[in-house]
Amino acid sequence: MSVSWVTVLGATGSIGVNTLDVIARHPERYALFALTGHSRIDVLENQCLTHRPRYAVVASDEQALALQARLLNAGCPTAVLVGAESLEQVASAEDVDVVMAAIVGAAGLRPTLAAVRAGKRVLLANKEALVMSGALFMQAVKDSGAVLLPIDSEHNAIFQCLPVDYARGMASVGVRRILLTASGGPFRDMSVEDLKTVTPKQACAHPNWSMGQKISVDSASMMNKGLELIEASWLFNVRPAQIEVVIHPQSVVHSLVDYIDGSVIAQLGNPDMRTPIAHALAWPERLDSGVSPLDLLSVARLDFRPPDPKMFPCLRLAREAAESGGTSCAVLNAANEVAVEAFLTGRIGFTDIPVIIEHTLDCMASESVQDLDHILLTDRHARKHANDWLSRHF
Ligand code: NAD
Ligand code: MG
Repeated sequence: MSVSWVTVLGATGSIGVNTLDVIARHPERYALFALTGHSRIDVLENQCLTHRPRYAVVASDEQALALQARLLNAGCPTAVLVGAESLEQVASAEDVDVVMAAIVGAAGLRPTLAAVRAGKRVLLANKEALVMSGALFMQAVKDSGAVLLPIDSEHNAIFQCLPVDYARGMASVGVRRILLTASGGPFRDMSVEDLKTVTPKQACAHPNWSMGQKISVDSASMMNKGLELIEASWLFNVRPAQIEVVIHPQSVVHSLVDYIDGSVIAQLGNPDMRTPIAHALAWPERLDSGVSPLDLLSVARLDFRPPDPKMFPCLRLAREAAESGGTSCAVLNAANEVAVEAFLTGRIGFTDIPVIIEHTLDCMASESVQDLDHILLTDRHARKHANDWLSRHF
Protein backbone atom coordinates (compact mmCIF):
# COMPACT_ATOMS: atom_id res chain seq x y z
CA MET A 1 0.00 0.00 0.00
CA SER A 2 1.35 3.44 -0.88
CA VAL A 3 1.69 6.07 1.83
CA SER A 4 -0.78 9.01 1.84
CA TRP A 5 0.68 12.45 2.48
CA VAL A 6 -1.42 14.45 4.94
CA THR A 7 -1.62 18.16 5.75
CA VAL A 8 -3.27 19.01 9.09
CA LEU A 9 -4.57 22.60 9.11
CA GLY A 10 -5.05 23.53 12.77
CA ALA A 11 -2.80 20.74 14.09
CA THR A 12 -2.45 22.29 17.56
CA GLY A 13 -6.20 22.30 18.26
CA SER A 14 -8.46 19.63 19.67
CA ILE A 15 -9.26 18.03 16.28
CA GLY A 16 -5.63 18.42 15.14
CA VAL A 17 -4.28 16.60 18.21
CA ASN A 18 -6.83 13.79 17.78
CA THR A 19 -5.92 13.49 14.09
CA LEU A 20 -2.23 13.07 14.92
CA ASP A 21 -3.15 10.45 17.52
CA VAL A 22 -4.93 8.35 14.86
CA ILE A 23 -2.21 8.90 12.25
CA ALA A 24 0.53 7.86 14.70
CA ARG A 25 -1.20 4.47 15.02
CA HIS A 26 -0.71 3.83 11.28
CA PRO A 27 2.79 4.93 10.22
CA GLU A 28 2.70 2.48 7.29
CA ARG A 29 -0.30 4.32 5.78
CA TYR A 30 0.24 8.03 6.52
CA ALA A 31 3.10 10.52 6.41
CA LEU A 32 2.82 14.18 7.36
CA PHE A 33 3.33 16.82 4.71
CA ALA A 34 2.52 19.87 6.84
CA LEU A 35 1.25 20.87 10.28
CA THR A 36 -0.12 24.37 10.98
CA GLY A 37 -0.71 26.32 14.19
CA HIS A 38 -1.64 29.89 15.05
CA SER A 39 -0.82 29.86 18.76
CA ARG A 40 0.49 27.21 21.21
CA ILE A 41 3.71 27.05 19.20
CA ASP A 42 5.27 24.84 21.89
CA VAL A 43 2.66 22.21 21.00
CA LEU A 44 3.48 22.60 17.29
CA GLU A 45 7.19 22.22 18.08
CA ASN A 46 6.61 18.93 19.89
CA GLN A 47 4.40 17.72 17.06
CA CYS A 48 7.18 18.51 14.56
CA LEU A 49 9.74 16.66 16.66
CA THR A 50 7.47 13.61 16.88
CA HIS A 51 6.03 13.52 13.35
CA ARG A 52 8.78 15.25 11.35
CA PRO A 53 6.50 16.85 8.71
CA ARG A 54 8.09 18.47 5.64
CA TYR A 55 6.58 21.86 6.59
CA ALA A 56 5.15 23.70 9.57
CA VAL A 57 3.12 26.91 9.11
CA VAL A 58 2.81 29.61 11.77
CA ALA A 59 1.19 33.07 11.89
CA SER A 60 4.11 35.51 12.35
CA ASP A 61 7.75 35.97 11.36
CA GLU A 62 8.83 36.00 15.03
CA GLN A 63 7.12 32.66 15.67
CA ALA A 64 8.73 31.24 12.51
CA LEU A 65 12.28 32.38 13.35
CA ALA A 66 12.13 31.02 16.88
CA LEU A 67 10.53 27.72 15.86
CA GLN A 68 12.92 27.17 12.92
CA ALA A 69 15.95 27.74 15.19
CA ARG A 70 14.69 25.29 17.81
CA LEU A 71 13.85 22.62 15.22
CA LEU A 72 17.29 22.96 13.55
CA ASN A 73 18.96 22.65 16.94
CA ALA A 74 17.06 19.45 17.59
CA GLY A 75 18.04 18.05 14.17
CA CYS A 76 14.46 18.16 12.88
CA PRO A 77 14.25 18.65 9.07
CA THR A 78 10.91 20.53 9.05
CA ALA A 79 10.93 23.85 7.14
CA VAL A 80 8.88 26.59 8.81
CA LEU A 81 6.64 28.80 6.63
CA VAL A 82 4.56 31.87 7.56
CA GLY A 83 1.11 33.29 6.93
CA ALA A 84 -2.19 32.80 5.17
CA GLU A 85 -0.69 32.18 1.71
CA SER A 86 1.48 29.38 3.07
CA LEU A 87 -1.65 27.79 4.55
CA GLU A 88 -3.15 27.69 1.06
CA GLN A 89 0.10 26.32 -0.39
CA VAL A 90 0.39 23.40 2.04
CA ALA A 91 -3.34 22.66 1.54
CA SER A 92 -3.03 22.45 -2.25
CA ALA A 93 0.57 21.28 -2.93
CA GLU A 94 0.86 18.56 -5.55
CA ASP A 95 2.34 15.93 -3.21
CA VAL A 96 -0.54 16.22 -0.72
CA ASP A 97 -3.24 13.52 -0.80
CA VAL A 98 -5.32 14.32 2.29
CA VAL A 99 -6.11 17.61 4.03
CA MET A 100 -7.61 17.75 7.51
CA ALA A 101 -9.40 21.13 7.64
CA ALA A 102 -9.41 21.84 11.38
CA ILE A 103 -8.77 25.58 11.68
CA VAL A 104 -11.55 27.15 13.73
CA GLY A 105 -13.81 29.85 12.26
CA ALA A 106 -13.74 31.99 9.13
CA ALA A 107 -9.91 31.89 9.09
CA GLY A 108 -10.21 28.33 7.75
CA LEU A 109 -12.21 29.24 4.66
CA ARG A 110 -9.43 30.11 2.18
CA PRO A 111 -7.08 27.18 2.93
CA THR A 112 -9.99 24.70 3.04
CA LEU A 113 -11.26 25.98 -0.30
CA ALA A 114 -7.71 25.77 -1.70
CA ALA A 115 -7.63 22.07 -0.77
CA VAL A 116 -11.03 21.53 -2.38
CA ARG A 117 -10.05 23.35 -5.58
CA ALA A 118 -6.88 21.24 -5.80
CA GLY A 119 -9.08 18.10 -5.76
CA LYS A 120 -7.76 16.65 -2.50
CA ARG A 121 -9.44 14.25 -0.11
CA VAL A 122 -10.72 16.91 2.30
CA LEU A 123 -11.65 15.93 5.85
CA LEU A 124 -13.95 18.76 6.88
CA ALA A 125 -14.00 19.74 10.56
CA ASN A 126 -14.08 23.52 9.89
CA LYS A 127 -17.89 23.80 9.62
CA GLU A 128 -17.72 27.63 9.52
CA ALA A 129 -16.14 27.46 6.03
CA LEU A 130 -19.13 25.56 4.66
CA VAL A 131 -21.65 27.70 6.56
CA MET A 132 -20.16 30.87 5.03
CA SER A 133 -19.77 29.70 1.47
CA GLY A 134 -22.01 26.60 1.04
CA ALA A 135 -23.05 26.97 -2.62
CA LEU A 136 -19.61 28.04 -3.81
CA PHE A 137 -17.86 25.38 -1.73
CA MET A 138 -20.05 22.51 -2.96
CA GLN A 139 -19.71 23.71 -6.57
CA ALA A 140 -15.90 23.70 -6.12
CA VAL A 141 -16.10 20.09 -4.85
CA LYS A 142 -18.05 19.11 -7.99
CA ASP A 143 -15.74 20.97 -10.36
CA SER A 144 -12.48 19.62 -8.94
CA GLY A 145 -13.57 16.08 -8.08
CA ALA A 146 -12.39 16.55 -4.47
CA VAL A 147 -13.56 13.87 -2.04
CA LEU A 148 -15.29 15.69 0.82
CA LEU A 149 -15.69 13.67 4.02
CA PRO A 150 -17.39 15.11 7.11
CA ILE A 151 -15.56 15.04 10.45
CA ASP A 152 -18.29 16.65 12.54
CA SER A 153 -19.54 13.59 14.41
CA GLU A 154 -23.20 14.14 13.42
CA HIS A 155 -22.42 14.59 9.73
CA ASN A 156 -20.01 11.71 9.74
CA ALA A 157 -22.83 9.63 11.28
CA ILE A 158 -25.34 10.77 8.64
CA PHE A 159 -22.81 10.00 5.90
CA GLN A 160 -22.45 6.48 7.32
CA CYS A 161 -26.27 6.04 7.47
CA LEU A 162 -26.93 7.19 3.87
CA PRO A 163 -26.58 4.97 0.78
CA VAL A 164 -23.41 5.54 -1.29
CA ASP A 165 -25.43 7.16 -4.10
CA TYR A 166 -27.13 9.75 -1.85
CA ALA A 167 -25.98 12.54 -4.18
CA ARG A 168 -28.89 11.50 -6.48
CA GLY A 169 -31.10 13.40 -4.03
CA MET A 170 -32.83 12.56 -0.76
CA ALA A 171 -36.20 11.78 -2.44
CA SER A 172 -34.55 9.41 -4.94
CA VAL A 173 -32.86 7.40 -2.19
CA GLY A 174 -36.02 7.31 -0.02
CA VAL A 175 -34.96 9.62 2.81
CA ARG A 176 -37.81 11.36 4.65
CA ARG A 177 -35.75 13.45 7.07
CA ILE A 178 -32.54 13.71 9.00
CA LEU A 179 -32.47 13.68 12.79
CA LEU A 180 -29.54 15.71 14.07
CA THR A 181 -28.72 14.84 17.68
CA ALA A 182 -27.43 17.44 20.15
CA SER A 183 -26.12 16.95 23.66
CA GLY A 184 -27.81 20.23 24.68
CA GLY A 185 -24.49 21.39 26.18
CA PRO A 186 -23.72 22.17 29.82
CA PHE A 187 -26.80 24.40 30.33
CA ARG A 188 -29.50 22.12 28.97
CA ASP A 189 -31.19 21.69 32.38
CA MET A 190 -30.96 25.33 33.51
CA SER A 191 -33.68 27.99 33.47
CA VAL A 192 -33.61 30.98 31.08
CA GLU A 193 -33.02 33.21 34.14
CA ASP A 194 -29.94 31.22 35.26
CA LEU A 195 -28.42 31.53 31.76
CA LYS A 196 -27.88 35.27 32.27
CA THR A 197 -25.09 34.75 34.80
CA VAL A 198 -23.18 31.74 33.43
CA THR A 199 -19.41 32.19 33.00
CA PRO A 200 -17.06 31.30 30.10
CA LYS A 201 -15.54 28.59 32.30
CA GLN A 202 -18.96 26.97 32.80
CA ALA A 203 -19.73 27.28 29.08
CA CYS A 204 -16.47 25.55 28.14
CA ALA A 205 -17.06 22.61 30.51
CA HIS A 206 -18.92 20.39 28.08
CA PRO A 207 -20.50 17.33 29.72
CA ASN A 208 -19.56 14.81 27.00
CA TRP A 209 -16.97 16.22 24.58
CA SER A 210 -13.58 17.89 25.08
CA MET A 211 -13.24 20.58 22.38
CA GLY A 212 -11.80 24.01 21.56
CA GLN A 213 -13.24 27.08 23.33
CA LYS A 214 -15.24 28.50 20.43
CA ILE A 215 -17.12 25.30 19.61
CA SER A 216 -17.68 24.70 23.35
CA VAL A 217 -19.46 28.07 23.68
CA ASP A 218 -21.38 27.31 20.46
CA SER A 219 -22.48 24.01 21.99
CA ALA A 220 -23.66 25.77 25.14
CA SER A 221 -25.76 28.25 23.11
CA MET A 222 -26.75 25.54 20.62
CA MET A 223 -25.46 27.76 17.81
CA ASN A 224 -23.24 24.76 17.14
CA LYS A 225 -26.36 22.77 16.25
CA GLY A 226 -27.59 25.69 14.15
CA LEU A 227 -24.30 25.77 12.22
CA GLU A 228 -24.54 22.00 11.88
CA LEU A 229 -28.06 22.25 10.46
CA ILE A 230 -26.69 24.58 7.75
CA GLU A 231 -23.67 22.30 7.28
CA ALA A 232 -25.94 19.24 6.82
CA SER A 233 -28.17 21.05 4.33
CA TRP A 234 -25.14 21.73 2.07
CA LEU A 235 -23.33 18.43 2.54
CA PHE A 236 -26.36 16.27 1.82
CA ASN A 237 -28.41 18.67 -0.31
CA VAL A 238 -31.44 18.63 2.03
CA ARG A 239 -33.87 21.44 2.79
CA PRO A 240 -33.56 22.85 6.34
CA ALA A 241 -37.19 21.83 6.95
CA GLN A 242 -36.15 18.17 6.46
CA ILE A 243 -33.67 18.39 9.35
CA GLU A 244 -34.97 17.96 12.88
CA VAL A 245 -32.84 18.67 15.96
CA VAL A 246 -33.24 16.30 18.91
CA ILE A 247 -31.57 16.65 22.32
CA HIS A 248 -29.89 13.41 23.30
CA PRO A 249 -27.92 13.99 26.51
CA GLN A 250 -25.79 10.80 26.38
CA SER A 251 -24.10 11.72 23.01
CA VAL A 252 -23.99 8.07 21.97
CA VAL A 253 -26.35 8.20 18.98
CA HIS A 254 -24.47 10.63 16.72
CA SER A 255 -27.42 11.22 14.32
CA LEU A 256 -30.09 9.29 12.42
CA VAL A 257 -31.61 9.03 8.93
CA ASP A 258 -35.36 8.40 8.66
CA TYR A 259 -36.46 6.57 5.47
CA ILE A 260 -39.93 6.59 3.85
CA ASP A 261 -40.44 2.89 4.58
CA GLY A 262 -40.26 3.58 8.33
CA SER A 263 -36.64 2.43 8.78
CA VAL A 264 -34.49 4.69 10.91
CA ILE A 265 -30.73 4.11 10.66
CA ALA A 266 -28.43 5.53 13.32
CA GLN A 267 -24.69 5.50 13.97
CA LEU A 268 -23.63 4.94 17.59
CA GLY A 269 -20.31 5.11 19.39
CA ASN A 270 -18.48 6.59 22.35
CA PRO A 271 -18.18 10.39 22.13
CA ASP A 272 -14.60 10.47 20.83
CA MET A 273 -13.64 12.41 17.66
CA ARG A 274 -11.06 9.78 16.73
CA THR A 275 -13.93 7.65 15.35
CA PRO A 276 -15.05 10.10 12.63
CA ILE A 277 -11.40 11.06 12.00
CA ALA A 278 -10.37 7.42 11.43
CA HIS A 279 -13.50 6.81 9.36
CA ALA A 280 -12.79 9.73 7.03
CA LEU A 281 -9.05 8.98 6.78
CA ALA A 282 -9.59 5.39 5.70
CA TRP A 283 -12.98 5.52 3.94
CA PRO A 284 -14.19 3.23 2.40
CA GLU A 285 -11.95 1.05 4.54
CA ARG A 286 -11.91 0.93 8.36
CA LEU A 287 -9.02 1.71 10.70
CA ASP A 288 -8.30 1.14 14.37
CA SER A 289 -8.85 4.59 15.95
CA GLY A 290 -7.88 3.80 19.53
CA VAL A 291 -11.50 4.40 20.65
CA SER A 292 -12.77 1.90 23.20
CA PRO A 293 -15.75 -0.25 22.18
CA LEU A 294 -19.20 1.07 23.10
CA ASP A 295 -20.54 -0.68 26.20
CA LEU A 296 -24.31 -0.45 25.72
CA LEU A 297 -25.00 -2.04 29.10
CA SER A 298 -23.14 0.71 30.93
CA VAL A 299 -24.85 3.39 28.79
CA ALA A 300 -28.10 1.59 29.83
CA ARG A 301 -30.52 4.20 28.47
CA LEU A 302 -30.82 6.62 25.58
CA ASP A 303 -32.97 9.74 26.11
CA PHE A 304 -34.38 12.10 23.47
CA ARG A 305 -36.28 15.37 23.85
CA PRO A 306 -36.98 18.52 21.82
CA PRO A 307 -34.85 21.65 22.35
CA ASP A 308 -36.57 24.52 24.20
CA PRO A 309 -36.72 27.52 21.80
CA LYS A 310 -36.74 30.01 24.71
CA MET A 311 -33.46 28.58 26.06
CA PHE A 312 -31.74 28.39 22.69
CA PRO A 313 -32.69 31.31 20.39
CA CYS A 314 -29.48 30.71 18.37
CA LEU A 315 -31.03 27.59 16.91
CA ARG A 316 -33.96 29.62 15.55
CA LEU A 317 -31.62 32.29 14.14
CA ALA A 318 -29.57 29.66 12.32
CA ARG A 319 -32.66 27.93 10.91
CA GLU A 320 -34.00 31.28 9.65
CA ALA A 321 -30.62 32.10 8.05
CA ALA A 322 -30.54 28.65 6.41
CA GLU A 323 -34.02 29.21 5.00
CA SER A 324 -33.28 32.71 3.74
CA GLY A 325 -30.03 31.53 2.03
CA GLY A 326 -27.72 33.93 0.15
CA THR A 327 -25.29 35.80 2.39
CA SER A 328 -27.41 35.31 5.57
CA CYS A 329 -25.38 32.37 6.85
CA ALA A 330 -22.09 34.27 6.39
CA VAL A 331 -23.59 37.14 8.42
CA LEU A 332 -24.83 34.74 11.10
CA ASN A 333 -21.39 33.12 11.34
CA ALA A 334 -19.44 36.39 11.52
CA ALA A 335 -21.73 37.91 14.17
CA ASN A 336 -21.52 34.71 16.18
CA GLU A 337 -17.70 34.72 16.08
CA VAL A 338 -17.64 38.32 17.33
CA ALA A 339 -20.21 37.59 20.05
CA VAL A 340 -18.46 34.41 21.27
CA GLU A 341 -15.12 36.24 21.49
CA ALA A 342 -16.79 39.07 23.46
CA PHE A 343 -18.33 36.52 25.83
CA LEU A 344 -15.03 34.64 26.30
CA THR A 345 -13.22 37.88 27.15
CA GLY A 346 -15.87 38.81 29.73
CA ARG A 347 -17.24 41.79 27.79
CA ILE A 348 -20.82 40.53 27.45
CA GLY A 349 -23.11 38.02 29.13
CA PHE A 350 -24.06 34.66 27.63
CA THR A 351 -27.62 35.74 26.79
CA ASP A 352 -26.28 38.75 24.86
CA ILE A 353 -24.86 36.39 22.22
CA PRO A 354 -28.17 35.84 20.32
CA VAL A 355 -29.09 39.54 20.74
CA ILE A 356 -25.94 40.65 18.87
CA ILE A 357 -26.46 38.05 16.15
CA GLU A 358 -30.11 38.98 15.61
CA HIS A 359 -29.24 42.69 15.50
CA THR A 360 -26.53 42.05 12.88
CA LEU A 361 -28.87 39.92 10.75
CA ASP A 362 -31.50 42.68 10.93
CA CYS A 363 -28.93 45.28 9.76
CA MET A 364 -27.81 43.36 6.69
CA ALA A 365 -30.25 42.35 3.97
CA SER A 366 -29.54 38.94 2.46
CA GLU A 367 -27.86 39.16 -0.96
CA SER A 368 -27.36 36.40 -3.49
CA VAL A 369 -23.75 35.22 -3.36
CA GLN A 370 -21.53 36.28 -6.27
CA ASP A 371 -18.07 34.93 -5.47
CA LEU A 372 -15.56 34.35 -2.68
CA ASP A 373 -14.65 38.07 -2.44
CA HIS A 374 -18.34 38.88 -1.93
CA ILE A 375 -18.50 36.40 0.96
CA LEU A 376 -15.31 37.76 2.55
CA LEU A 377 -16.64 41.32 2.20
CA THR A 378 -19.95 40.28 3.81
CA ASP A 379 -17.95 38.68 6.64
CA ARG A 380 -16.06 41.95 7.24
CA HIS A 381 -19.24 44.07 7.15
CA ALA A 382 -21.06 41.78 9.56
CA ARG A 383 -18.10 41.87 12.00
CA LYS A 384 -18.14 45.67 11.82
CA HIS A 385 -21.91 45.87 12.53
CA ALA A 386 -21.56 43.44 15.46
CA ASN A 387 -18.53 45.32 16.87
CA ASP A 388 -20.24 48.72 16.50
CA TRP A 389 -23.23 47.39 18.39
CA LEU A 390 -20.91 46.06 21.11
CA SER A 391 -19.17 49.44 21.45
CA ARG A 392 -22.51 51.22 21.80
CA HIS A 393 -23.90 48.85 24.43
CA PHE A 394 -20.88 47.65 26.47
P1 NAD B 1 -9.31 24.59 18.60
O1 NAD B 1 -9.57 25.97 19.05
O2 NAD B 1 -8.95 23.55 19.60
O3 NAD B 1 -8.18 24.58 17.45
C1 NAD B 1 -8.23 25.48 16.38
C2 NAD B 1 -7.00 25.39 15.50
O4 NAD B 1 -7.06 26.46 14.54
C3 NAD B 1 -5.68 25.59 16.27
O5 NAD B 1 -4.68 24.79 15.66
C4 NAD B 1 -5.36 27.07 16.05
O6 NAD B 1 -3.98 27.36 16.14
C5 NAD B 1 -5.87 27.26 14.63
N1 NAD B 1 -6.25 28.66 14.37
C6 NAD B 1 -7.01 29.47 15.14
N2 NAD B 1 -7.13 30.69 14.58
C7 NAD B 1 -6.43 30.64 13.42
C8 NAD B 1 -6.14 31.61 12.40
N3 NAD B 1 -6.63 32.87 12.45
N4 NAD B 1 -5.37 31.22 11.36
C9 NAD B 1 -4.87 29.97 11.28
N5 NAD B 1 -5.10 29.02 12.22
C10 NAD B 1 -5.87 29.36 13.28
O7 NAD B 1 -10.64 24.12 17.78
P2 NAD B 1 -11.20 22.65 17.57
O8 NAD B 1 -12.12 22.30 18.68
O9 NAD B 1 -10.12 21.70 17.20
O10 NAD B 1 -12.14 22.88 16.30
C11 NAD B 1 -11.62 23.05 15.00
C12 NAD B 1 -12.77 23.03 13.99
O11 NAD B 1 -13.38 21.76 14.03
C13 NAD B 1 -13.88 24.05 14.31
O12 NAD B 1 -14.38 24.57 13.12
C14 NAD B 1 -14.93 23.23 15.02
O13 NAD B 1 -16.22 23.73 14.83
C15 NAD B 1 -14.77 21.88 14.32
N6 NAD B 1 -15.18 20.74 15.14
C16 NAD B 1 -14.53 20.46 16.29
C17 NAD B 1 -14.94 19.38 17.07
C18 NAD B 1 -14.20 19.01 18.36
O14 NAD B 1 -14.53 17.97 18.95
N7 NAD B 1 -13.24 19.77 18.82
C19 NAD B 1 -16.03 18.60 16.66
C20 NAD B 1 -16.66 18.92 15.47
C21 NAD B 1 -16.23 19.98 14.70
MG1 MG C 1 -20.79 18.16 15.95
